[in-house]
Amino acid sequence: MSSNSYDLIIIGAGPGGYIAAERAGALGKRVLLIEKEYLGGVCLNWGCIPSKALLHSAKLYEHTHNASQFGVDIQGAVYNLEKAMSWKTNVIDTLRKGIAYKMKSHKVEVLNGTATLTGPRSVEVNGDSYTSDYIILATGSSPVVPPIPGADQSHVMTSNEVLSIDTLPSSIAIIGGGVIGMEFASFFSMVGVKVSVIEMLPDILPFLDGDITKLMKRSMKGVDFKLGCKVERIESDSVVYSRDGAEESVEADAVLLAIGRKPNIDGLGLEAAGVEFDRFGVKVSDTLRTNIPSIYAIGDLNGKSQLAHSASRMGEVAVKTMFGGTDRMRYHAIPLAIFSNPEIAGCGLTEAQAKEQGIDVDVAMMTMKASGRFLVEHGADENGSVKVIVDRSSRVLLGVYMIGGMCSEMIHAAATMIEAELRVQDIQEIVFPHPTVAEVMKDAFWSL
Ligand SMILES: Cc1cc2nc3c(=O)[nH]c(=O)nc-3n(C[C@H](O)[C@H](O)[C@H](O)COP(=O)(O)OP(=O)(O)OC[C@H]3O[C@@H](n4cnc5c(N)ncnc54)[C@H](O)[C@@H]3O)c2cc1C
Repeated sequence: MSSNSYDLIIIGAGPGGYIAAERAGALGKRVLLIEKEYLGGVCLNWGCIPSKALLHSAKLYEHTHNASQFGVDIQGAVYNLEKAMSWKTNVIDTLRKGIAYKMKSHKVEVLNGTATLTGPRSVEVNGDSYTSDYIILATGSSPVVPPIPGADQSHVMTSNEVLSIDTLPSSIAIIGGGVIGMEFASFFSMVGVKVSVIEMLPDILPFLDGDITKLMKRSMKGVDFKLGCKVERIESDSVVYSRDGAEESVEADAVLLAIGRKPNIDGLGLEAAGVEFDRFGVKVSDTLRTNIPSIYAIGDLNGKSQLAHSASRMGEVAVKTMFGGTDRMRYHAIPLAIFSNPEIAGCGLTEAQAKEQGIDVDVAMMTMKASGRFLVEHGADENGSVKVIVDRSSRVLLGVYMIGGMCSEMIHAAATMIEAELRVQDIQEIVFPHPTVAEVMKDAFWSL
């Protein structure tokens, strides 16, 4: 094999690309991973990890206000943004080194540069050509900047810039009530910033179970929700929006655009290689193969599921199937988590989605206050709930949605149950450890 010839070339080193590289390296394949910026992609450098680092620091700060009920009196707590940012940078550096180590230990060659496809099995980087039996495109996505008048001002940011601010604004308007919008709404309101969320749709988080969304809005007391409102323009200190045909405005020292992300397809050479795509991303089969048999597209780039763990799983499916294994991407049991305060997690069908599909369902909703551990750690004022959705005739579990506690740490159990098509009676036989908040999930199944 010539020095520029590989079994697999991967473009983009996010959670899709680096996991695919690791899996192919473990199979003994010769792999080249090309990245134009940093190992870890958006997830590690501008997404999952930095946002969670800031959210954790804000949650700690928030706990100092509530610690007294647990017998801990804390006076004079101060939120220090500069230190929180340096903690965030520290975590990113450590994790980047961890990925570099994994690539080395799996003999993956890492090349820094911008890659362009030049054909079905060839790529150009920094003026050099590389060939490969297979190519995985894993170039991710970027924030959408809408054509709103005033969106080009310096106080208007996307999630990229907001993760590196050096001072807290006194007020922020967040345009978009999706996952990213709600996580930043939580962060800013916990550290004392006046927060408004402006959402064009009638509700925030439209893909979530309605009961959970209701509880979320009730819990986020510090956030002013402007629902069914269309942003008309951004001024230097306010955002102007229309509601039912009338213009209103909200104060905003800073503005965060959180209206969605678009696939990184520009300049990738898709046309040169004959790869089909549309504005939602590169078109793929359930093995992540494009219309060109040697080229696969995984992660945010194909628009199927914009989550880090989906990207990684897609990388695994692509690698396994291209080298002769059998696998396919299944989307029905991918868990989602929103690391807001309170946290939200969900998996499978919501009650409304099941009904839309004509399925008769039984549902049960349990308060987390029934859990000794939840009460011990969250006090009397905090709420949490678990909702389970079950097919009435087969008694098979269809979905689980939760709010409160560290529910993101429990949702993989629901994913396992849904993947395994467990019935209520199967789940009732599983032993849950005590005292844990997860026991509430079991209680919900017994109440059906
Ligand atoms: C603020 C924020 C918070 C998030 N929080 C979560 C969360 O908590 N949980 C979760 O599951 N998901 C979260 N996400 C989504 C998650 O970050 C993405 O789903 C995930 O990063 C997608 O992985 P990927 O491998 O497809 O692409 P990316 O992580 O986007 O990586 C793509 C990489 O490709 C590189 N690249 C692009 N073009 C080229 C080229 N031509 N040549 C070489 N390299 C190239 C880019 O530089 C980038 O490093 C969050 C996103 C944001 C913005």
